[in-house]
Amino acid sequence: MKARNVFITGASSGIGKATAYKFAEYGDNLILCARRKENLNEIAQDIKNKWRSHVHIYELDVTNYEDVSSVVKDLEDKDIKIDILVNNAGLASGLDKFQDSSIEDIEKMINTNLKGLIYVTRKVIEQMAGENSGHIINMGSTAGIYAYEKAAVYCASKAAVKTLSDGIRIDIIDKDIKITTIQPGIVQTDFSEVRFHGDSERAEGVYKGIEALQPEDIADVVLYVANQPKRVQITDVTIMANQQG
Ligand code: NDP
Repeated sequence: MKARNVFITGASSGIGKATAYKFAEYGDNLILCARRKENLNEIAQDIKNKWRSHVHIYELDVTNYEDVSSVVKDLEDKDIKIDILVNNAGLASGLDKFQDSSIEDIEKMINTNLKGLIYVTRKVIEQMAGENSGHIINMGSTAGIYAYEKAAVYCASKAAVKTLSDGIRIDIIDKDIKITTIQPGIVQTDFSEVRFHGDSERAEGVYKGIEALQPEDIADVVLYVANQPKRVQITDVTIMANQQG
């Protein structure tokens, strides 16, 4: 089978990193993006030592539309067509009661989880539509289905990921482009620490009493949906930790 070019945002840690390893092991090529370039360098080197994948890395903040556009343009200039886009970059920031949340934290979540995902999709889909094929896999969350306390804006941003995916699917019905939303429950990553502004004690508390999902569990699902035959489009997958209830 021909190696595909898989573009992953938020590939510097957690689910995005695990997804990069899964696709590389399967034999695909990677375009890895995130703000922490030193992490991407390490990951790319390790992957190249283990498998035959071509790996391109880009330091990219998905909230900057111009930077997103230049990355996609650079790939076009290099004649690299994106076959699969995994929109994974995202965060919860400083979770607190809605009325106590800072506007800075609120903007960070909306700008990254929603606007950033829109920017990347808008640019990549132009290229996919030209080629008339592709697959976009968006990282939502069970938080988009079941709101929980002190997370109204995060939950809303993830509900929007699902609605956006469904809306785009209708608009590109004439193209051979699939769209999938993956909605994970609790996964053990840096996410928890980021959401409590680096307070590791509070972050660890999230995993107390349950065996959390591991990033590899989600990466397995991403690869599974990407490997379906042309006629099959998996629109949504919800994956919870067994004891999450
Ligand atoms: P991590 O914190 O490990 O990963 C988040 C990734 O997003 C990092 O690679 C980070 O890279 C990247 N990122 C954040 N902001 C930006 C930005 N502005 N531009 C580019 N990249 C950015 O957490 P997870 O792996 O858990 O999170 C991955 C996705 O999974 C997120 O969308 C999250 O909402 C979702 N999710 C997580 C769950 C969990 O329980 N962990 C549950 C459900 C969904 P860098 O900092 O280098 O830019």
